Amino acid sequence: MARVFNWQLGRAMDYWYPENRPKRQFGAVFDINKCIACQTCTLSCKTTWTSGRGQEFMFWNNVETKPYGYYPLAWDVTLLEALGAQTWDGATYTGRTVFEAAPPGERVLGWMPDGMDYASPNIGEDEITGQVDKGMALTLPQQVWMFYLARICNHCTYPACLSSCPRASIYKRPEDGIVVLDQSRCRGYQECVRACPYKKVYFNPATGTSEKCIACFPKIEEGIQPQCFVNCIGKIRLQGWVNPPARAREDNPIDYLVHVRKLALPLYPQFGLEPNVYYVPPVNVPDAFLVQMFGPDAPAAVKTYRNARHDRTLAGLFALFGSTERTIPFFRISGDEAIALDDDRREIVRVPIYEPLFIRPAEDPARRIIRLNVT
Ligand code: SF4
Ligand code: SF4
Repeated sequence: MARVFNWQLGRAMDYWYPENRPKRQFGAVFDINKCIACQTCTLSCKTTWTSGRGQEFMFWNNVETKPYGYYPLAWDVTLLEALGAQTWDGATYTGRTVFEAAPPGERVLGWMPDGMDYASPNIGEDEITGQVDKGMALTLPQQVWMFYLARICNHCTYPACLSSCPRASIYKRPEDGIVVLDQSRCRGYQECVRACPYKKVYFNPATGTSEKCIACFPKIEEGIQPQCFVNCIGKIRLQGWVNPPARAREDNPIDYLVHVRKLALPLYPQFGLEPNVYYVPPVNVPDAFLVQMFGPDAPAAVKTYRNARHDRTLAGLFALFGSTERTIPFFRISGDEAIALDDDRREIVRVPIYEPLFIRPAEDPARRIIRLNVT
């Protein structure tokens, strides 16, 4: 075991290999509050990469309803229970990671789902917590709640899939930090399936090898965002590059949301993998649930998000989500517009920070008709 620094835990931790960060790290932000669970992302991935034999139960991208939805079944609660107490002292994690909690002789604390755990990708969909009683009114904070959680491989800085593979078939690309699996080396031992706490490696029984999300690297190499990003109906996703905090840049959109404003947070940081997909946490969800899922910064992030529309930089940055199929490495705000810039600081696209709002009068006297304003 090596000692490596995990900034999401605020401390060093044990990992199978020494720290070796890529030249650039693939990063993404998902704004959970805007996801409508339309599953367009899921289908765009399915039709691109996993439409073949043996891939029937593979969802490199999936969207589940929390708190009762999972894919595969109980993927997170099973591990949360096995991990034991997950305590924080301020910004420092004082519990154990999946590497530190590994049983003797194993590299990771993992578990293996059954075949049937993959049988119901939409289990728990749209199920809310609590009981809706007669006469109940909408109050804040909401007594009943649910939210949609879109998930892909996190292309972790310290991947459990990679560290657990006895064949060294999984590697992190030095040029972009994308985690890929060499199927010519894979012998189908499925240690990666067992080890990945997010359950984002899938075994293909037709080929006898494991497969996983590749972040659409052929598109990334062309400067284009992955399929599930550019097809997202809710425009919840932004792909770019994330730096460690010491190298964070204010003009990098991912760094700005993750490090500068601490608005986008990792999923289950306590697992210890330093995942590189970040989430703007959902509003109207109890703090305790958010802290368990996104770490101790979650309540403050919700507060920042609630004020985001009054903050020109944040409002402008959110307006750039889904505005172009190109990767946005840099951005700036100019007047009433947010501008996406490429690596050479050339303009990719510009969008208004606040879109004009037109309210039509219900009655159109010229045509003598009543119209409904539905948008
Ligand atoms: Fe590997 Fe899972 Fe991390 Fe993806 S999310 S890099 S499959 S450990
Ligand atoms: Fe959510 Fe976007 Fe996927 Fe639709 S396409 S389910 S809005 S992440």
